Amino acid sequence: MLFRARPEKLELTLLKYLKSRMESSYDQALNYNNLAKGYEGELKSDIWLKGLTEEWLILHDLLFEYHGSNFQIDTLIIAYEKIYLLDVKYFEGDYSIKDDKWYNPAGALQKNPLHQLERCETLLQKLLLKLGHHYKIESYLIFNNPEFHLNTTSINPAIIFPTQLNRFLKKLNQRPVKLNKKYYQLAQQLVDHHQEESPYTRLPEYSYEKLQKGIICSKNCNTFFTDERMICKKCGCKEEVDAAVLRSVKEFTLLFPDKKITVDSIHDWCGGLKSKKAVRRILSKYFVLVGKARASHYVCRTQ
Ligand SMILES: [Zn+2]
Repeated sequence: MLFRARPEKLELTLLKYLKSRMESSYDQALNYNNLAKGYEGELKSDIWLKGLTEEWLILHDLLFEYHGSNFQIDTLIIAYEKIYLLDVKYFEGDYSIKDDKWYNPAGALQKNPLHQLERCETLLQKLLLKLGHHYKIESYLIFNNPEFHLNTTSINPAIIFPTQLNRFLKKLNQRPVKLNKKYYQLAQQLVDHHQEESPYTRLPEYSYEKLQKGIICSKNCNTFFTDERMICKKCGCKEEVDAAVLRSVKEFTLLFPDKKITVDSIHDWCGGLKSKKAVRRILSKYFVLVGKARASHYVCRTQ
Protein backbone atom coordinates (compact mmCIF):
# COMPACT_ATOMS: atom_id res chain seq x y z
CA MET A 1 0.00 0.00 0.00
CA LEU A 2 1.03 3.54 -0.61
CA PHE A 3 2.15 4.91 2.76
CA ARG A 4 3.52 8.23 1.56
CA ALA A 5 2.45 9.60 -1.83
CA ARG A 6 4.77 11.75 -3.90
CA PRO A 7 4.04 15.37 -3.08
CA GLU A 8 3.59 18.00 -5.76
CA LYS A 9 7.00 19.42 -6.67
CA LEU A 10 6.69 23.02 -5.57
CA GLU A 11 10.02 23.97 -7.13
CA LEU A 12 8.79 22.79 -10.51
CA THR A 13 5.50 24.66 -10.14
CA LEU A 14 7.31 27.89 -9.23
CA LEU A 15 9.77 27.51 -12.10
CA LYS A 16 6.87 27.00 -14.49
CA TYR A 17 5.27 30.25 -13.32
CA LEU A 18 8.55 32.13 -13.71
CA LYS A 19 9.22 30.64 -17.13
CA SER A 20 6.02 32.23 -18.45
CA ARG A 21 6.66 35.62 -16.90
CA MET A 22 10.37 36.27 -17.41
CA GLU A 23 13.20 35.58 -19.83
CA SER A 24 15.19 32.53 -18.79
CA SER A 25 18.81 31.75 -19.59
CA TYR A 26 19.82 28.59 -21.42
CA ASP A 27 20.95 26.96 -18.14
CA GLN A 28 17.70 27.86 -16.41
CA ALA A 29 15.66 26.39 -19.25
CA LEU A 30 17.79 23.24 -19.18
CA ASN A 31 17.38 22.93 -15.42
CA TYR A 32 13.60 23.27 -15.79
CA ASN A 33 13.45 20.64 -18.53
CA ASN A 34 15.57 18.21 -16.50
CA LEU A 35 13.44 18.66 -13.42
CA ALA A 36 10.22 18.26 -15.41
CA LYS A 37 11.54 15.11 -17.09
CA GLY A 38 12.70 13.67 -13.80
CA TYR A 39 9.30 14.30 -12.23
CA GLU A 40 7.52 12.75 -15.21
CA GLY A 41 9.67 9.63 -14.77
CA GLU A 42 8.92 9.46 -11.07
CA LEU A 43 5.17 9.69 -11.69
CA LYS A 44 5.38 6.93 -14.31
CA SER A 45 7.26 4.78 -11.86
CA ASP A 46 4.60 5.36 -9.24
CA ILE A 47 1.94 4.02 -11.62
CA TRP A 48 4.09 1.02 -12.40
CA LEU A 49 4.39 0.22 -8.68
CA LYS A 50 0.61 -0.03 -8.42
CA GLY A 51 1.11 -3.61 -9.65
CA LEU A 52 2.84 -4.37 -6.37
CA THR A 53 1.03 -6.42 -3.75
CA GLU A 54 -0.85 -4.45 -1.11
CA GLU A 55 1.29 -6.10 1.58
CA TRP A 56 4.27 -3.83 1.03
CA LEU A 57 4.56 -0.26 2.24
CA ILE A 58 5.62 2.25 -0.39
CA LEU A 59 7.09 5.63 0.50
CA HIS A 60 8.01 8.27 -2.07
CA ASP A 61 10.28 11.26 -2.05
CA LEU A 62 11.98 11.41 1.32
CA LEU A 63 14.80 13.69 2.35
CA PHE A 64 16.91 12.69 5.35
CA GLU A 65 19.82 14.11 7.23
CA TYR A 66 22.38 11.93 8.96
CA HIS A 67 25.24 13.59 10.85
CA GLY A 68 25.27 16.63 8.56
CA SER A 69 24.88 14.67 5.28
CA ASN A 70 21.66 15.04 3.34
CA PHE A 71 20.32 12.26 1.17
CA GLN A 72 17.23 12.02 -0.98
CA ILE A 73 15.27 8.84 -1.48
CA ASP A 74 13.10 8.47 -4.53
CA THR A 75 11.17 5.34 -3.56
CA LEU A 76 11.40 3.05 -0.57
CA ILE A 77 9.56 -0.25 -0.30
CA ILE A 78 9.28 -1.80 3.12
CA ALA A 79 8.85 -5.54 2.67
CA TYR A 80 9.11 -8.46 5.03
CA GLU A 81 12.54 -8.24 6.70
CA LYS A 82 13.87 -6.28 3.76
CA ILE A 83 13.92 -2.76 2.44
CA TYR A 84 14.11 -1.93 -1.23
CA LEU A 85 15.71 1.35 -2.15
CA LEU A 86 14.78 2.44 -5.68
CA ASP A 87 16.15 5.34 -7.64
CA VAL A 88 14.10 5.98 -10.75
CA LYS A 89 15.69 7.66 -13.75
CA TYR A 90 13.69 8.74 -16.76
CA PHE A 91 16.77 9.08 -18.97
CA GLU A 92 16.22 9.15 -22.71
CA GLY A 93 18.61 8.20 -25.52
CA ASP A 94 21.89 6.29 -25.70
CA TYR A 95 24.03 6.51 -22.59
CA SER A 96 27.33 4.75 -22.14
CA ILE A 97 29.74 3.61 -19.43
CA LYS A 98 33.51 3.69 -19.97
CA ASP A 99 35.93 2.96 -17.11
CA ASP A 100 33.16 3.39 -14.54
CA LYS A 101 32.30 6.81 -15.95
CA TRP A 102 28.83 7.63 -17.32
CA TYR A 103 28.28 9.66 -20.48
CA ASN A 104 24.99 11.12 -21.71
CA PRO A 105 23.84 10.94 -25.38
CA ALA A 106 25.74 14.17 -26.14
CA GLY A 107 28.95 12.56 -24.84
CA ALA A 108 29.14 14.71 -21.71
CA LEU A 109 30.30 13.21 -18.43
CA GLN A 110 27.43 12.49 -16.02
CA LYS A 111 27.34 11.94 -12.28
CA ASN A 112 27.54 8.19 -11.78
CA PRO A 113 24.02 7.26 -10.55
CA LEU A 114 25.32 4.01 -9.04
CA HIS A 115 27.71 5.94 -6.79
CA GLN A 116 24.82 8.17 -5.71
CA LEU A 117 22.75 5.06 -4.95
CA GLU A 118 25.57 3.47 -2.92
CA ARG A 119 25.97 6.65 -0.88
CA CYS A 120 22.25 6.72 -0.26
CA GLU A 121 22.21 3.08 0.86
CA THR A 122 25.12 3.59 3.28
CA LEU A 123 23.47 6.59 4.90
CA LEU A 124 20.06 4.92 5.04
CA GLN A 125 21.58 1.87 6.72
CA LYS A 126 23.11 4.11 9.38
CA LEU A 127 19.85 5.96 9.89
CA LEU A 128 17.93 2.68 10.27
CA LEU A 129 20.41 1.43 12.87
CA LYS A 130 20.01 4.68 14.76
CA LEU A 131 16.24 4.13 14.73
CA GLY A 132 16.78 0.59 16.03
CA HIS A 133 16.16 -1.43 12.85
CA HIS A 134 18.43 -4.05 11.34
CA TYR A 135 16.86 -4.81 7.98
CA LYS A 136 18.80 -5.69 4.88
CA ILE A 137 18.65 -3.06 2.14
CA GLU A 138 18.57 -3.97 -1.56
CA SER A 139 19.16 -1.05 -3.91
CA TYR A 140 18.16 -0.72 -7.54
CA LEU A 141 18.62 1.86 -10.21
CA ILE A 142 15.47 1.79 -12.33
CA PHE A 143 15.31 3.11 -15.87
CA ASN A 144 11.70 3.39 -16.96
CA ASN A 145 11.87 5.30 -20.22
CA PRO A 146 11.44 2.83 -23.14
CA GLU A 147 13.64 5.18 -25.20
CA PHE A 148 16.62 4.56 -22.93
CA HIS A 149 19.65 2.47 -23.84
CA LEU A 150 22.92 1.90 -21.99
CA ASN A 151 26.03 0.90 -23.87
CA THR A 152 28.09 -1.14 -21.45
CA THR A 153 30.16 -4.30 -21.47
CA SER A 154 29.50 -5.21 -17.86
CA ILE A 155 26.27 -6.45 -16.32
CA ASN A 156 25.23 -4.85 -13.09
CA PRO A 157 22.34 -6.60 -11.30
CA ALA A 158 21.47 -3.34 -9.52
CA ILE A 159 20.37 -1.82 -12.83
CA ILE A 160 16.83 -2.55 -14.04
CA PHE A 161 16.10 -1.70 -17.65
CA PRO A 162 12.62 -0.86 -19.03
CA THR A 163 12.19 -4.37 -20.48
CA GLN A 164 12.95 -5.95 -17.07
CA LEU A 165 10.48 -3.91 -15.03
CA ASN A 166 7.61 -6.42 -15.11
CA ARG A 167 9.83 -9.33 -14.13
CA PHE A 168 11.31 -7.26 -11.33
CA LEU A 169 7.83 -6.57 -10.01
CA LYS A 170 6.90 -10.26 -10.24
CA LYS A 171 9.97 -11.12 -8.20
CA LEU A 172 8.93 -8.70 -5.49
CA ASN A 173 5.38 -10.03 -5.48
CA GLN A 174 6.63 -13.55 -4.84
CA ARG A 175 7.41 -12.71 -1.23
CA PRO A 176 3.95 -11.91 0.16
CA VAL A 177 4.09 -12.14 3.94
CA LYS A 178 1.80 -9.85 5.82
CA LEU A 179 3.60 -7.02 7.54
CA ASN A 180 3.01 -6.54 11.23
CA LYS A 181 2.84 -3.44 13.40
CA LYS A 182 6.60 -2.88 13.66
CA TYR A 183 6.86 -2.28 9.90
CA TYR A 184 4.14 0.37 10.02
CA GLN A 185 5.98 1.96 12.94
CA LEU A 186 9.16 2.06 10.88
CA ALA A 187 7.31 3.69 7.97
CA GLN A 188 5.91 6.32 10.32
CA GLN A 189 9.34 6.91 11.90
CA LEU A 190 10.81 7.54 8.45
CA VAL A 191 8.02 9.96 7.51
CA ASP A 192 8.60 11.78 10.81
CA HIS A 193 12.32 12.10 10.00
CA HIS A 194 11.66 13.55 6.55
CA GLN A 195 13.05 17.08 6.21
CA GLU A 196 11.09 19.71 4.32
CA GLU A 197 13.37 21.67 2.04
CA SER A 198 12.49 25.19 0.96
CA PRO A 199 12.24 25.34 -2.85
CA TYR A 200 12.81 29.12 -2.83
CA THR A 201 16.57 28.93 -2.26
CA ARG A 202 17.11 27.16 -5.59
CA LEU A 203 15.02 29.48 -7.77
CA PRO A 204 16.62 32.02 -10.11
CA GLU A 205 16.51 35.60 -8.86
CA TYR A 206 13.19 37.34 -9.56
CA SER A 207 11.34 40.43 -8.46
CA TYR A 208 7.72 41.49 -8.70
CA GLU A 209 8.57 44.52 -10.85
CA LYS A 210 10.41 42.48 -13.48
CA LEU A 211 7.76 39.79 -13.98
CA GLN A 212 5.23 40.18 -16.75
CA LYS A 213 1.72 40.79 -15.38
CA GLY A 214 -1.42 39.18 -16.72
CA ILE A 215 -3.38 35.94 -16.65
CA ILE A 216 -1.75 32.99 -18.39
CA CYS A 217 -3.76 30.39 -20.27
CA SER A 218 -4.21 27.27 -18.13
CA LYS A 219 -3.14 24.96 -20.95
CA ASN A 220 0.54 24.57 -21.68
CA CYS A 221 0.62 27.19 -24.43
CA ASN A 222 2.34 29.88 -22.35
CA THR A 223 0.09 32.63 -23.67
CA PHE A 224 -1.39 35.53 -21.76
CA PHE A 225 -5.14 36.06 -22.07
CA THR A 226 -5.93 39.26 -23.95
CA ASP A 227 -9.67 38.76 -23.87
CA GLU A 228 -11.41 39.45 -20.58
CA ARG A 229 -13.79 36.58 -21.28
CA MET A 230 -10.69 34.35 -20.72
CA ILE A 231 -10.50 32.93 -24.21
CA CYS A 232 -6.97 32.06 -25.30
CA LYS A 233 -6.13 33.47 -28.71
CA LYS A 234 -3.53 30.77 -29.28
CA CYS A 235 -5.21 27.50 -28.31
CA GLY A 236 -8.80 28.75 -28.24
CA CYS A 237 -9.57 27.29 -24.81
CA LYS A 238 -11.99 29.10 -22.54
CA GLU A 239 -11.83 29.26 -18.77
CA GLU A 240 -14.33 30.47 -16.19
CA VAL A 241 -13.41 33.98 -15.04
CA ASP A 242 -13.40 33.07 -11.34
CA ALA A 243 -11.19 30.02 -11.94
CA ALA A 244 -8.68 32.03 -14.01
CA VAL A 245 -8.40 34.78 -11.39
CA LEU A 246 -8.12 32.27 -8.53
CA ARG A 247 -5.34 30.49 -10.41
CA SER A 248 -3.52 33.80 -10.71
CA VAL A 249 -3.99 34.49 -6.99
CA LYS A 250 -2.40 31.11 -6.27
CA GLU A 251 0.57 31.99 -8.49
CA PHE A 252 0.91 35.37 -6.78
CA THR A 253 0.88 33.94 -3.26
CA LEU A 254 3.31 31.13 -4.09
CA LEU A 255 5.77 33.41 -5.85
CA PHE A 256 5.45 36.17 -3.26
CA PRO A 257 4.48 34.60 0.07
CA ASP A 258 5.15 37.90 1.89
CA LYS A 259 2.84 40.02 -0.26
CA LYS A 260 -0.74 40.60 0.77
CA ILE A 261 -3.79 39.73 -1.30
CA THR A 262 -5.67 42.97 -1.94
CA VAL A 263 -7.94 44.19 -4.74
CA ASP A 264 -5.11 46.47 -5.96
CA SER A 265 -2.37 43.82 -5.82
CA ILE A 266 -4.41 41.18 -7.66
CA HIS A 267 -5.76 43.71 -10.17
CA ASP A 268 -2.17 44.68 -10.98
CA TRP A 269 -0.91 41.07 -11.01
CA CYS A 270 -3.66 40.14 -13.50
CA GLY A 271 -2.46 42.97 -15.75
CA GLY A 272 -5.71 44.91 -15.33
CA LEU A 273 -7.52 42.37 -17.48
CA LYS A 274 -10.49 42.38 -15.12
CA SER A 275 -11.84 45.53 -13.46
CA LYS A 276 -11.20 46.20 -9.77
CA LYS A 277 -14.90 45.68 -9.21
CA ALA A 278 -14.70 42.18 -10.69
CA VAL A 279 -11.55 41.36 -8.69
CA ARG A 280 -13.27 42.54 -5.47
CA ARG A 281 -16.31 40.37 -6.22
CA ILE A 282 -14.13 37.27 -6.71
CA LEU A 283 -11.90 37.89 -3.68
CA SER A 284 -14.91 38.54 -1.44
CA LYS A 285 -16.52 35.32 -2.64
CA TYR A 286 -13.57 33.00 -2.00
CA PHE A 287 -11.51 34.77 0.70
CA VAL A 288 -12.07 36.53 4.00
CA LEU A 289 -11.30 40.22 4.42
CA VAL A 290 -9.22 40.94 7.54
CA GLY A 291 -7.70 44.13 9.00
CA LYS A 292 -8.97 47.66 8.82
CA ALA A 293 -8.81 50.46 6.23
CA ARG A 294 -5.43 50.53 4.40
CA ALA A 295 -4.18 47.42 6.23
CA SER A 296 -7.11 45.31 5.08
CA HIS A 297 -6.36 42.30 2.93
CA TYR A 298 -7.76 38.91 2.05
CA VAL A 299 -6.80 35.56 3.54
CA CYS A 300 -7.85 32.00 2.79
CA ARG A 301 -11.02 30.91 4.53
CA THR A 302 -9.17 28.13 6.33
CA GLN A 303 -6.60 30.49 7.93
ZN1 LIG B 1 -3.90 28.65 -24.58
